[in-house]
Amino acid sequence: MSQISSGGVRPHIQELSDRLISQIAAGEVIERPASVVKELVENAVDAGARSIEIRLDEGGIKRIVVADDGCGIEKEELPLALKRHATSKIRTLSDLESVRSFGFRGEALASIASVSDLTIVSRTPQASSAWAIDRDGVSPAAGTQGTRIEVKDLFYLTPARRKFLKSPATELSHCLAQIERAALANPHVEFHAYSNGKPVMTLLPADADERIRSVMPREFAQASRRVLADAPGLHLEGWTGLPTSARSRTDKQYFFVNGRFIRDRVLQHAVKTAYADVLHGQAQPMYALM
Ligand code: ADP
Ligand code: MG
Repeated sequence: MSQISSGGVRPHIQELSDRLISQIAAGEVIERPASVVKELVENAVDAGARSIEIRLDEGGIKRIVVADDGCGIEKEELPLALKRHATSKIRTLSDLESVRSFGFRGEALASIASVSDLTIVSRTPQASSAWAIDRDGVSPAAGTQGTRIEVKDLFYLTPARRKFLKSPATELSHCLAQIERAALANPHVEFHAYSNGKPVMTLLPADADERIRSVMPREFAQASRRVLADAPGLHLEGWTGLPTSARSRTDKQYFFVNGRFIRDRVLQHAVKTAYADVLHGQAQPMYALM
């Protein structure tokens, strides 16, 4: 690391390269394979996908593929998709105020590409063929309508970051947790997940109730109650587990605000308080509340 020398001479101020800026930004949002899965699945949902396929090799450390049947990206725009602060989702400050998409910062793909070996293959409904972009540029490719993004060797350039990854099995479970959140928030979308080529999650299009029951552990379906409540400016709905289906971990506690998964201590505490008379000690209720 360069430092001020003993004589107090400071190195010149220099602008960072775009690539290094993206690598630094990646440090904030791309923590592990599951963060890549989150960003790619959100992009697929934003693209209007009806069906999303996720392939994970070695827990996503070696390879992540997310393929969708959404609107696709035109050949001319492929380079922009990988550019930092380039987005199709907002143009003005007022768009930002009313944003409905998951993404809008235009940073995810640039960040992921800066710390992995990334390839996009995409085809719009109007295009007569698919096009691919990778480190070497744009080239013709085979592909159906939609977008397929492949991310290989995450953090291969930054061994220090790579060292913080856990075992493939642990990284896989983080990836699957991200897919479950997306699946709960988007019940009408079909999800197919594979680990090292084997199917690990298959979710057909459903309504919200059906989707909750297929994503939550089996005992939840038998021991849960529907929640429906309205207050000024607020509509609450979902399912919450009976005390008999409580567990020791908090991993099946889901809150979504306007379709976006959130974790919030205050809300978590509010639910815990509501259960105070029927659940004791460390017992954790399961719930999915929208
Ligand atoms: P953001 O989602 O914040 O706009 P991203 O870096 O995630 O930024 O993506 C950049 C742009 O690439 C998006 O705005 C979108 O236009 C396009 N894009 C990314 N993924 C897809 C996809 N699966 N299908 C269609 N377009 C996509
Ligand atoms: Mg995005």
